[in-house]
Amino acid sequence: MTDAVSSILEIVRIPVLQDNYVWLLRCPLTGQTGVVDPAEAAPVEAALAQRGWTLDWILNTHHHWDHTGANVELKARSGARIVGPARDAARIPGMDLGVDEGDRFDLGACPATVHFVPAHTAGDVAFHFPASRALFCGDTIFLMGCGRLLEGTPAMLWDAMLRLRALPGDTWVYCAHEYTVANARFALTVDPGNPALRARAQAVEAQRGRGEPTVPGLLCEERATNPFMRADDPALAAAVEMVGAPPAEVLGALRARKDRF
Ligand code: ZN
Ligand code: FE
Repeated sequence: MTDAVSSILEIVRIPVLQDNYVWLLRCPLTGQTGVVDPAEAAPVEAALAQRGWTLDWILNTHHHWDHTGANVELKARSGARIVGPARDAARIPGMDLGVDEGDRFDLGACPATVHFVPAHTAGDVAFHFPASRALFCGDTIFLMGCGRLLEGTPAMLWDAMLRLRALPGDTWVYCAHEYTVANARFALTVDPGNPALRARAQAVEAQRGRGEPTVPGLLCEERATNPFMRADDPALAAAVEMVGAPPAEVLGALRARKDRF
């Protein structure tokens, strides 16, 4: 038995609703199976049945219905347990296990570290599986974008960005929506002189043109092209006429501009 190989998750993308991605995870050593942010039950059950898998865990990044909508139904049919943000337990339907900053969660033999990253909501968590180089971040980071600040502040989002961008650059970012092309178009308006962004914007337009998903993306590419993760770069501060301002304020201005884009 070689742990290095066996602790790498098998990950299946399930597109649901308009533009959501639900992620099915399987530990190859134990067969333990999880689903991240199930918006709808039927597509998840179809993906499970197709592979002969049964559901053991539901992982929630935050309380929104397009991430928790199938919690109760899937739990009732499979007996799966639900893990989500401890600090937002009251808003996570059917939650069994609360996790918080720095906690470890094991999907079978695949351990994840939990990051508490409130900003989009007051209770977001992200699950990082280091051996699988996989980060499940819900609506906190999108490729070249970020979630709306519905319950948190720019300072909270900047704190989350700093902690998540410090993860290894070869980490795959599994976000919960296919917003990449719209994000790239906005990013070009505030960071037009960034060659990495221009190249990536072109690449994702082509991918979507071929009907291909863009998610997951690599964290090192986010560091180079995501304007919200680059709020401490003078070019981004200049774009919102805030040279010298703290990065959290630049991030707030960028997010406000994106809200109106
Ligand atoms: Zn959300
Ligand atoms: Fe969402």
